[in-house]
Amino acid sequence: MPVRVRFAPSPTGLLHVGALRTALYNFLMANRDGGQNILRIEDTDRTRYNPESEAEFISTLKWIGIEFHEGPHVGGPKAPYRQSERKEAGIYEPYWRQLLAVGKAYRAFETPQELDEMRQFQQINKMPTGYFGGEWRDASPEKVAEAEAAGKPSVIRLKIPRGEKIVIDDVVRGRLEWDSDTVDDPVLIKADGMPTYHFAAMVDDHLMEITHVLRGEEWVSSAPKHKVLFDAFGWTPPVWVHCPVIVGNDGKKLSKRHGATRVLDYGAMGILREPLKNFVALIGWAPGNDQEVMTQEELIHAFSIDRLQASPGRFDLDKLRWMNGVAIRALSPEDLWDTVSAYLADPWTKKYWSTPDPEPIPGAPDHAVVLAELETLQKAMTDQPDLARKALLLEQERVLTLAEFGAACSFFFGEEVKFEEKAVQKWFGEAHAGKMFSDFQAELSGRSEVSVEDCERMVKGWAELNGFEKLGPVVHPTRVALTGKTVGPGLFELMSALGPHEMSRRLSAAKELLRA
Ligand code: GLU
Repeated sequence: MPVRVRFAPSPTGLLHVGALRTALYNFLMANRDGGQNILRIEDTDRTRYNPESEAEFISTLKWIGIEFHEGPHVGGPKAPYRQSERKEAGIYEPYWRQLLAVGKAYRAFETPQELDEMRQFQQINKMPTGYFGGEWRDASPEKVAEAEAAGKPSVIRLKIPRGEKIVIDDVVRGRLEWDSDTVDDPVLIKADGMPTYHFAAMVDDHLMEITHVLRGEEWVSSAPKHKVLFDAFGWTPPVWVHCPVIVGNDGKKLSKRHGATRVLDYGAMGILREPLKNFVALIGWAPGNDQEVMTQEELIHAFSIDRLQASPGRFDLDKLRWMNGVAIRALSPEDLWDTVSAYLADPWTKKYWSTPDPEPIPGAPDHAVVLAELETLQKAMTDQPDLARKALLLEQERVLTLAEFGAACSFFFGEEVKFEEKAVQKWFGEAHAGKMFSDFQAELSGRSEVSVEDCERMVKGWAELNGFEKLGPVVHPTRVALTGKTVGPGLFELMSALGPHEMSRRLSAAKELLRA
């Protein structure tokens, strides 16, 4: 049977990393096995419905490159793919009617207040909370008919069999067993006639011929209810695959503090989609060899649900940044230029950096500063493309995100060098610095360009002539004079990129600072 998997988000909010991983595993599995990847929108909870959420899911997944064979945006043989539309089309009604008719579901007429009292009673008496039958599970047909005739609102609940074992075989967790007496009777149809997630999702998994359900571990506790529903209809359940929970690298619940954020924000931060996919795939799954950096094709080829781990998967932002750096370094000069241009032109990039970070991670750069640096870079790519190209190529070796190009390249373009206090203190105390800068200026004067080799010859020649055995006292003050910083790309390369005129201008400013 061909694999059919579904990603079934509830459109209540933004797309975060856990849901992205589920979507990705579905995508990898379907594509590996020549199967179908289906997007189903589970929007029956109208109180939590967020109209922008579905668009956010679709556009983010498109950005990442996760495509669907069927879904509300592409259609397909099992349409409609939004549960609210399926409800309108009357798809669910025959199924709940069937369960009522055979006594596998029942109407319950408790008011919200009565349910509240029941819960309080259970809590006070340290009993399991939930609806285990109340007044209605075994009510006589006459009593039910009477309540209905009186127009009392009701819900329809699943009659979980009592005194039995409920068993499922989960691919990740193995055999799971529940004592059915601990499983409460879930609502299948709400008082307003809307199906709940439990009902709509299972009916749809059956009708859409889903073979494997990949979803987060938080759904394990619902699995016995789902199994009972499949049994009630006499349907074969899909294979359940509960993917491990994701935690931060300190082992605690994943949060913003660990760098987890809206997936779209990773794009704005300058994370490329390929390393993001690669990174997310490896949270809780491994290909079984030492390979870490993988292309999408390699991921598809290597992916197997048998290699999902049961222990929590760790979200390690440093690893994501490292993988992203590897991907940036692998770009050809043309691709680098195009990637950075597209990144800077993307309205989402500016929007993200224009908004102050409400919960900044300690040590993270200030958004307003990053925005200004990115704007400077963008302007330079238009006004001084030759210099910008050289700057990007030099910094390509060092940055870990596209956003970091802004800060890394900023010294190339500014009118004035921004000196780091500690760099000046450390290297501008050298007595020879002023003379050295003047000698360089003399050597550069009248030239329109200098090669990397010329610069190397000039600096090393000066050191030799002036009796410096080590290059440090020559190289470091020069770097500070030209960039304001103690670290950066290769000195001779950046000198050549700046060119004689700009270098001379900066050396003059540095001499002023030495005199001050
Ligand atoms: N609609 C559920 C969610 O938002 C899907 C759970 C499932 O995959 O069964 O996570």
